[in-house]
Amino acid sequence: MEKKLLSIVVPCYNEEASIESFYRAVMAELMKMPEVDYEFVLVDDGSKDDTLLKMEELHRKDRRVKFVAFSRNFGKEAALLAGLEHAKGDYVVVMDVDLQDPPALLLEMYRGLESGKYDVVAARRISRAGEPPIRSFFARKFYKLINKMSKIEMVDGARDYRMMTRQVVEAVTQMREYNRYSKGLFSFVGFRTKWLEYENVQRAAGETHWSFWGLLVYAIEGICAFSTVPLVIAAVMGLVFCLMAFVMIVVIVAKTLMFGDPVGGWPSMICVILFVGGVQLLALGVIGQYLAKTYLETKGRPVYIVRKTSED
Ligand code: UDP
Ligand code: MG
Repeated sequence: MEKKLLSIVVPCYNEEASIESFYRAVMAELMKMPEVDYEFVLVDDGSKDDTLLKMEELHRKDRRVKFVAFSRNFGKEAALLAGLEHAKGDYVVVMDVDLQDPPALLLEMYRGLESGKYDVVAARRISRAGEPPIRSFFARKFYKLINKMSKIEMVDGARDYRMMTRQVVEAVTQMREYNRYSKGLFSFVGFRTKWLEYENVQRAAGETHWSFWGLLVYAIEGICAFSTVPLVIAAVMGLVFCLMAFVMIVVIVAKTLMFGDPVGGWPSMICVILFVGGVQLLALGVIGQYLAKTYLETKGRPVYIVRKTSED
């Protein structure tokens, strides 16, 4: 039987400290799978440190380590897409380079796909140990919220760490959208998915690229990309206020006819004006979000630009 080719796709941004140990840790696991061929597809997402040098070094030592270097930092989602597009494997696994995605799961993922019962084997952390508690709190709330707002199911604790068949990879890379929210894209394509659970692992070296603010913006992007519920909320709010205003008009006209028109209620009027003005701006902001996304999509700009690959 012909050997299966496993592609290991790894987005890297300023990770010079992690690449070597990542490579060694994964190789140790691959040794346990002599029946598979492998290739690494390392994506340098415009790192400012010596990440690319480390990649080139590895490529010289092991020809099965390939790399793709971007012309600048395009973000992890873009790096993921590039990795998936450059991967040639029958099976493709996506991993972070910081060893937060335990390589020990590779074998189980591979077996899951080989069994023919699954098209995707994905990892899900069941604890968030070592994370700031406030971040975990908001993360949980976010998953509750987005699952209510979107038809697509987002699994709490799911990471991008997953092994997929070629068919699934084709489905994911077919989606050429500019605003990429991978967790949503992966669940959008569907397929039979098996979840492996594990305890959270801390970063081996370097530090996370996510600030709290960055995560908040990412969360809003996720919601915009996979739900139009905010637009519905804006519309419903408008309707409710119209009804309220209508009732108030009727009440005031009736009162004036019955009791005359003593001047009063200016402070309460200003409050109402401010409140309604605020709601209007909010609704406009929500619409603006979607419009901005649409604007970016219609430009049809490439998701990433490659500066150098191991092929040239
Ligand atoms: N990453 C990337 N481009 C970026 C930011 C991050 O390719 O602009 C990579 C990073 O090198 C790592 C992975 O994405 O391999 C996850 O990043 P990080 O560990 O900072 O995220 P966390 O694990 O904290 O969610
Ligand atoms: Mg990490």
